[in-house]
Amino acid sequence: MAPRSITITTEWKKPVPNVDHDNEVFWEGLKQHKLMLWTCKTCGARYWPKAYCQNHDNEPFADDCEWRESSGRGRIFAFNIHEWAFQPGFKDEVPYVYALVELDEGPLISSQLVGDNQPSDVHNVGQRVEVVYEDHPNEGFTLPKFQIVSD
Ligand SMILES: [Zn+2]
Repeated sequence: MAPRSITITTEWKKPVPNVDHDNEVFWEGLKQHKLMLWTCKTCGARYWPKAYCQNHDNEPFADDCEWRESSGRGRIFAFNIHEWAFQPGFKDEVPYVYALVELDEGPLISSQLVGDNQPSDVHNVGQRVEVVYEDHPNEGFTLPKFQIVSD
């Protein structure tokens, strides 16, 4: 059984999450190991990041939407393998895989793929993934990463 969370206590040298009023529920949810998606209460459409519902009028903004928990599962929509670090904090991790994940609820979310099972060629597009919560207790945030799962 693959781990559902990872705890990292080494010093964080990369950019920190940009938490603001519009996404603070998302980042708080991650700390509780929940992947929150912006959800229309009228039609159930899910969005990330926060957006207007595209299916009908919903003025004023956010009046008919709320954050709801996602399954945290989806499939690889696209990925690329980073051979070079574009930011010095990543230099010890290259090569790493950065993927665009299509969540089962619909939204696309991008993050790093972790774990032993890594995609290598175009045939890996479409593989099932699930969220892994990467906790950074010293810095006080959690990142959503993804790992390939068998089903
Ligand atoms: Zn809607």
